[in-house]
Amino acid sequence: MRIKKHIVNIGNIAIGGEEKIAIQTMYSLPLKPLSNKEWYEELLFTLRSYATMGCDIVRFSYPSRDHEETFRAICKDSPLPVVADIHFDYELAKEAILCGAHKIRINPGNIGAKWKVKEVVELAKDRNVAIRIGLNGGSLPLSKRNEDPVKAMVETALEYASWLESWNFKQTVLSVKHTDVEHTYNSYASLASLCDYPLHLGVTEAGSIVSAVTRSTWALGRLLSQGIGDTMRISISDDNIYEIAAAKEILRTVGREKGGIHLISCPKCGRSTFDSSGFVKKIEHKLLSIQSDLTVAIMGCQVNGPGEAASADIAITGIGNKAFLYVKGKLVKEVNERDAEEVLFRYIQEMIDAQ
Ligand code: SF4
Repeated sequence: MRIKKHIVNIGNIAIGGEEKIAIQTMYSLPLKPLSNKEWYEELLFTLRSYATMGCDIVRFSYPSRDHEETFRAICKDSPLPVVADIHFDYELAKEAILCGAHKIRINPGNIGAKWKVKEVVELAKDRNVAIRIGLNGGSLPLSKRNEDPVKAMVETALEYASWLESWNFKQTVLSVKHTDVEHTYNSYASLASLCDYPLHLGVTEAGSIVSAVTRSTWALGRLLSQGIGDTMRISISDDNIYEIAAAKEILRTVGREKGGIHLISCPKCGRSTFDSSGFVKKIEHKLLSIQSDLTVAIMGCQVNGPGEAASADIAITGIGNKAFLYVKGKLVKEVNERDAEEVLFRYIQEMIDAQ
């Protein structure tokens, strides 16, 4: 069962209620001047590739008004709703809203005076822009720093949310991320029982791919399987495609999302004469952009290959420089290794067309 929260609109998507759990990533490079056309086209290409991989929302830092022209263009041209990440400066928050951001992320505690937060909120209300109150364990008010971190995060988030409510603002999302996975888990579980704001799930500063995916799966997988969470970002110190892929995989694993390729691949061992892991790396990006519900197996030898192929929709088992293609467990083609990718995607497309 999903714990239903009220609906918040972010550009052309909605989160909360029974809406799908939206996957987010954060663009991790600095913005450049709009006059750098080549960079801007590359940026839009990157955003489109995030969208085809299943990302729903993209966040940008908005650290200075030097980026106003670029950010305004991004808000207009992005294929995904855009969130502006703001720290400290309420004028920047207002500027990001005026640029066309669909949502802003602020921590009212580091904006300073309450009247400044109110000005931002009033403008967001006028422009129908959502606000995430984003708390991290490391950015709690000084008065709360010696308290139990879970209690401190939950109470602070609810206090800030009550400010927004008192100004009649309804489009609030909350997040209470912590570097400690148990504090993260307990904070979200507590918050979910105390309010009906949609929750943005995440573990902050989760590290490189192995630690980030492990820690996020442990904390967020449990929350999601209890119906908690309306949008999520897996923070990984690596390429954003891993953030999107990991979020999709966690959602599928806990049964919160269907669709997309379920990839089975063998780890390789001394029997392998085919570089199955190199092959997977080469095709992974393309596989992740397919939304159809298919199981694809890539195996490194004949020992377990045909067995796995039997349960996959499509499988490739490599032996030396040959690749054997199975469809629903039946061997349909033997090709040279260099043609394996083309043949695999051809058969995947045929299967999608026949669905
Ligand atoms: S499928 Fe073959 S190569 Fe891959 S791990 Fe199993 S035995 Fe080793």
